[in-house]
Amino acid sequence: MTEQENMELTERIKSVKERVAQAALRAGKKPEDIILVAASKMNDAERVRAAISAGIKVCGENRVQELLEKYEQHAYDGADLQFIGTLQTNKVKYLIGKVSLIQSVGSVHLGEAIAKEAAKHNVRQDILLEVNIGRETAKSGLLIEELDEAIARLSEKPSLHIRGLMAIPPIADEISKNSSYFTEMHQVFVDILTKKYDNVNMDYLSMGMTNDFETAIECGANMVRIGTAIFGARPYQIVSPKT
Ligand SMILES: *Cc1c(COP(=O)(O)O)cnc(C)c1O
Repeated sequence: MTEQENMELTERIKSVKERVAQAALRAGKKPEDIILVAASKMNDAERVRAAISAGIKVCGENRVQELLEKYEQHAYDGADLQFIGTLQTNKVKYLIGKVSLIQSVGSVHLGEAIAKEAAKHNVRQDILLEVNIGRETAKSGLLIEELDEAIARLSEKPSLHIRGLMAIPPIADEISKNSSYFTEMHQVFVDILTKKYDNVNMDYLSMGMTNDFETAIECGANMVRIGTAIFGARPYQIVSPKT
């Protein structure tokens, strides 16, 4: 990384934090109530370390293999590490003991696999339940009407701790469309909170990415997962000029 790149990264982090803080205030919250998760996929260990030096406290990875490689290189030292991507049950074992939170538990089956592995390691794994808020067939996640049953079943597991909900709304052309999904998610979150399930703490509502995190916070998110606005465009996002 060049000195210039390092300066730009530091500037972007500062700017994202300011925007998060402003959105928090608009939502009637304190800036420190919002957890900023840096989605670090496709950024190497050096860049992740630089981000942590520049004030990032939580990193989120969405591929197990990439997480393991960067973990070996001490990319996340000094920060909290979370898993935010699609997870196959046979890869759960690689994450237990490394990540503080698995955000993307979109089925009872996956939750049970995590519970089993966590029990083996004698740990209690924090998880979020992922909701398929747009009811997209191509996307994983629980439908709203499946949540009560999933919570009833997973909250029985002593090695699991449900800490909230996560959602990724459909890719929208207008942010206003997302805002109705975010508002609906917040309503579901509050409904579950009100029901006061044993062994469940509705602490986190994780929604909002680079294009819509301010809207998400205004609608009630207290955890945002931001990649591009922190690290810049990922390699595959840069359209190379025709030669
Ligand atoms: C990449 C990613 C993000 C961040 O996306 P940006 O649009 O780059 O901010 C958030 N959540 C998940 C699950 C991701 O994979």
